[in-house]
Amino acid sequence: MKPAKKLMKEELGQFVDHLSKEYLVYGPVARRSDFSFQEIDSAEDLRFDYTTTTIPPKKFFHHRQTLLRYSGEDYSELESTLEKRFLLLGVHSCDLNAILRHDRLFTRQFHDPYYLKLRRNSAIVALICTHIGNSCFCASLGTGPTIREGFDLLLTDLGNEYLIEVGSSEGQRMIEELNLQKANSSDLEKKEERVKLALTQFVKSMKMDGLNQLALKYLDHEVWSLIGEKGGLAGCFACLSCGNCSLVCPTCYCFEVADIPELSLNQGVRIRELDSCQLLEYAEVALGGNFRRDRKARVRQWMTCKFGGAGGGFDSSCVGCGRCINACPSHIDITEVAKSLRGE
Ligand code: SF4
Ligand code: SF4
Repeated sequence: MKPAKKLMKEELGQFVDHLSKEYLVYGPVARRSDFSFQEIDSAEDLRFDYTTTTIPPKKFFHHRQTLLRYSGEDYSELESTLEKRFLLLGVHSCDLNAILRHDRLFTRQFHDPYYLKLRRNSAIVALICTHIGNSCFCASLGTGPTIREGFDLLLTDLGNEYLIEVGSSEGQRMIEELNLQKANSSDLEKKEERVKLALTQFVKSMKMDGLNQLALKYLDHEVWSLIGEKGGLAGCFACLSCGNCSLVCPTCYCFEVADIPELSLNQGVRIRELDSCQLLEYAEVALGGNFRRDRKARVRQWMTCKFGGAGGGFDSSCVGCGRCINACPSHIDITEVAKSLRGE
């Protein structure tokens, strides 16, 4: 790794302006009562003290895409409208871990051109998380609050300045022309202290070891009825099948491809957009058959996937961001589900 540098906080504007020459820069901003990744016009809009954004940065790689336009028997694939590289500034470790999982998933057996086109057009400046939300539990999963790979640059707030660590040649290029001070060993120690302090702020945790086997072994466990039909687990109500948890989960990636014909039925477009196993139509097949008609079966499927038991090829697909807990109108808490499966 290249030697770390330091950026004084008053130089952040200059840094963002410099990045904006080459990239469309998106970062966390405050919006009413939450935070959201938005295009940054000025560094003053940035809120590096954010906990989590409501919608994770996966929205840049999994938004609705039009894949092709057809007319009669002809079709044409739509050219990408990407003109400028984009940069995600201030990505937390949980979200970066989720993106790295998607990178592995979408290049494992088949290379997904639509995902990869967007991903290759992106750069990431990560930010060590020092403001821990009440629902966060990444520390217990080893997915935060710090990260060692996958970023071009990594920032740590040291008080009056940011420590900048370089993770790639693209990251090195981003700071090359800036006249930044070299960081010294006491800056690196300060970083470690910040991480240690962050670790003391977590109120939630989840033990992941063996959860995938437990979820698959106990398909009739009462926890599935409690969250799927009756409510009552740690005061929760029954799942409403709203799909919020899936929408906000940085690791949920299931998508559907649909043809949308125009009124003439002779032409139309083919789109791809995120789907969710929490929704009734997800497992519907021809003639109205449905493999998961019950809410209980759907919420069990979703949780089992998060615990790594749904065949996605990962030990777990939860990175502990806590968003599903915050977004659930029925107050279902994945960490409580895990405890119940463990008999705790
Ligand atoms: S399952 Fe919940 S806590 Fe885990 S990554 Fe998804 S949204 Fe975050
Ligand atoms: S957010 Fe809660 S109520 Fe909605 S589908 Fe997920 S678990 Fe069910």
